[in-house]
Amino acid sequence: MNRSELLSRLLVAVGETAVLTGDRVRARSAGIWGQPHTIAAEILVRPADTGQVASVLSICNELDQSVVIHGGLTGVVEGARAENSDLVLSLERLDGVDSIDPIGATLTAGAGTPLATIQEAAAEHGLMFPLDMGARDTATIGGNVATNAGGNRVIRYGMVRSLVLGLEVVLADGTVLSSMNQMIKNNAGYDLKQLFIGSEGTLGVVTRVIVRLSAQPASREIALVGIDDFDRVTRLLGYLNGACGNTLSAYEVMWHDYYSFMTVTRPAPLPPDSAYYVLVEMLGSDPVGDGERFITVLDEAQTMGLIDTAIIAKSGTDEQAIWAIRDDVVSLQELRPMFLFDVSLPIRSVEAYVTDIRAALTKGWPDQQMFVFGHLGDGNVHLAISAGSASGDARKNVEDIVYRPLAALGGSISAEHGIGLEKKSYLDWCRSDAEIGVMRALKNTLDVKGILNPGKVFD
Ligand SMILES: Cc1cc2nc3c(=O)[nH]c(=O)nc-3n(C[C@H](O)[C@H](O)[C@H](O)COP(=O)(O)OP(=O)(O)OC[C@H]3O[C@@H](n4cnc5c(N)ncnc54)[C@H](O)[C@@H]3O)c2cc1C
Repeated sequence: MNRSELLSRLLVAVGETAVLTGDRVRARSAGIWGQPHTIAAEILVRPADTGQVASVLSICNELDQSVVIHGGLTGVVEGARAENSDLVLSLERLDGVDSIDPIGATLTAGAGTPLATIQEAAAEHGLMFPLDMGARDTATIGGNVATNAGGNRVIRYGMVRSLVLGLEVVLADGTVLSSMNQMIKNNAGYDLKQLFIGSEGTLGVVTRVIVRLSAQPASREIALVGIDDFDRVTRLLGYLNGACGNTLSAYEVMWHDYYSFMTVTRPAPLPPDSAYYVLVEMLGSDPVGDGERFITVLDEAQTMGLIDTAIIAKSGTDEQAIWAIRDDVVSLQELRPMFLFDVSLPIRSVEAYVTDIRAALTKGWPDQQMFVFGHLGDGNVHLAISAGSASGDARKNVEDIVYRPLAALGGSISAEHGIGLEKKSYLDWCRSDAEIGVMRALKNTLDVKGILNPGKVFD
């Protein structure tokens, strides 16, 4: 491939301000997670609209140029990692909410729009976009779609897959596939958008998104609960599912080690001596009655012996302080090395799984540290493990310990973060040959030359 031909054609297609090269690319951050911290590619293109994305991909496809797609770069599985020979396609200029339909409760936005901007735009119209996560200020809606992000409220609203109504995608050869459906019901043939949700940029570039909004809740109740055994953590979930009806919006669990670590540098709402801490959130429609109802529900849970200790947030500041403990995943990066895992498995198996992992780690590295937390209501736990050194075999050995038990338990090596580069050698530990075969066939059909995010998810 001729680099000067590539550059000159790109400059004609998108203009000088949209093309960065050399040091101007390497000076940019490659994200806060993982290595390297700067972008290794020689060329980065920032198209201004879908037409320009199509032109760039058409040129790259013709010239066999590999393309790595960049959203907000908050991904944690090296899905946006670029090599020197790759061209980076950044969606940062496809940024902004195009329109909101308050009657149909839909919002249309460019793929580069930060999640928080979408949440705020919906709120201005008395509606809510329920997708939420600690990376909300930086993660983009296009990246959320590409990773089928989960987050804090999946228990009630589902993952991104259930929040997207329409997508505009540019295929590897520059074809614009517009599936900008706004309706909840549309069974006219295959639902093509679903192919691209969670495909991690390997099947097409998401350029615009129509999402489904929900009613803005009139009340928000939050409690932090301390419990000393896991059996009651699972029973409390069952009880709240019934007692709160469909208003239970988050059931986030932090194991003792995680809570203690996070409350060293900030006030602890509850003393750090419980085995488990559960963040319970209820979003309702009655600002007066819901608060009383929440207290009654928690009182009953205490009477039933499901809760050892609890504190209810009394103000927005209290709520933020409790959520900040759960959301502050980034500060775990103080640990060196730090390996972050995101697995899912049946809730009934979680505690035995965590206990076995802890024992296996301690056997290999007596001074290991493991912090467990996650969206337990969805059977999703994150393990932040510090063991051995960043170089050498430690990471591989830890991965083996964490991933190997999952198949027998019916679990997954990736609950919500995707596969990227980081997990691809383990994909066949939770997907069959037939499943991976169909994934490959789709890739080969939609991206014949294999230029989009090559080597990500599978080879
Ligand atoms: C503090 C923190 C908290 C987090 N919490 C959660 C959480 O609760 N739940 C969760 O699911 N994730 C979470 N994440 C992970 C991350 O935020 C999500 O994966 C997010 O969806 C990535 O969005 P992004 O815009 O940053 O994408 P990027 O990191 O830029 O890209 C991620 C992948 O998508 C591809 N991609 C990006 N944009 C597009 C596009 N427009 N078209 C096609 N492909 C594209 C990239 O090539 C890459 O493969 C968290 C991360 C951090 C740092």
